[in-house]
Amino acid sequence: MPVHYDLHSHSRASDGTLSPAELVAAAHAGGVDVLALTDHDTTEGLAEAAQVARPLGMQLVPGVEISVSWQAQTIHVLGLGVDSACEPLQQGLSGLCDFRNWRAEEIGRRLARAGIPDCYAGACSHARGSIVGRTHFAHHLVAEGHAKSVRDVFKRFLVNNKPGYVSGKWASLEDALHWIDAAGGLAVVAHPGRYGMTASKLRRFLGEFRECGGVGMEVISGSHSRDNVTAMAALCRSQNMLASCGSDYHGPENPWIRLGQLPVLPAGCQPVWESDRWPVTRKELQ
Ligand code: AMP
Ligand code: MN
Ligand code: MN
Ligand code: MN
Repeated sequence: MPVHYDLHSHSRASDGTLSPAELVAAAHAGGVDVLALTDHDTTEGLAEAAQVARPLGMQLVPGVEISVSWQAQTIHVLGLGVDSACEPLQQGLSGLCDFRNWRAEEIGRRLARAGIPDCYAGACSHARGSIVGRTHFAHHLVAEGHAKSVRDVFKRFLVNNKPGYVSGKWASLEDALHWIDAAGGLAVVAHPGRYGMTASKLRRFLGEFRECGGVGMEVISGSHSRDNVTAMAALCRSQNMLASCGSDYHGPENPWIRLGQLPVLPAGCQPVWESDRWPVTRKELQ
């Protein structure tokens, strides 16, 4: 029986809508054998997810999706198999969450100036005690009738040159990869096809990423088109990187992204789980 991997997902600990327990149950029901929970800049959901996964016989890979600023661009780097007790990792994430808290208030102030008051409080209520991200603002603005969809909110309010946009001051690539390494994890570039980089810029980025100790890139991603997959598979092979696959699932409200429905990695791509450093062995799965 093939083992079904989904190495990128979100819970309510960041901007997903399911609790970690609900996410694990949904992944199990969808046929996922190995699930990585990779919330944005936090490991808060991991303990609950691991506890629920164990009796189901599912492997939970403890992960995190770290926000990185590289050449004025935001890049997401996954740490897979991280030890959440690692002090340098937690200190790093805590700095990012401090920035997120400040940014959330600033987004609220900017939207108020643009004529939409009380968005910070609204976003907080959608975040239910977790760190407030842009998605929580989007859910609030949709619920209040300011836009028809989350995608629409991003386009009109939350991206560069729009009223609620605040530029990211995230981790450096060096720092993020150091934290992941200190925590015993493997670093994987999330959805590399989504950054709108030219092929040569992306190659330059991957070069730096590998120099800093990064080993993998997502070839299969819920946010990759068919053409992205073909291009990323070619890049992955030519750069000698390990290939990963993840849905980037955020919850059932995005029905086009389903748990347990990922295509297999294209031929010639070496899966990240075949790395010597992969934290979960096939044997442990039996
Ligand atoms: P943040 O890390 O708080 O800046 O928010 C980034 C998150 O917002 C991503 O992980 C996605 O979940 C979501 N997101 C970003 N761009 C869009 C978009 N155009 N439409 C819908 N969701 C988006
Ligand atoms: Mn997200
Ligand atoms: Mn991402
Ligand atoms: Mn993600």
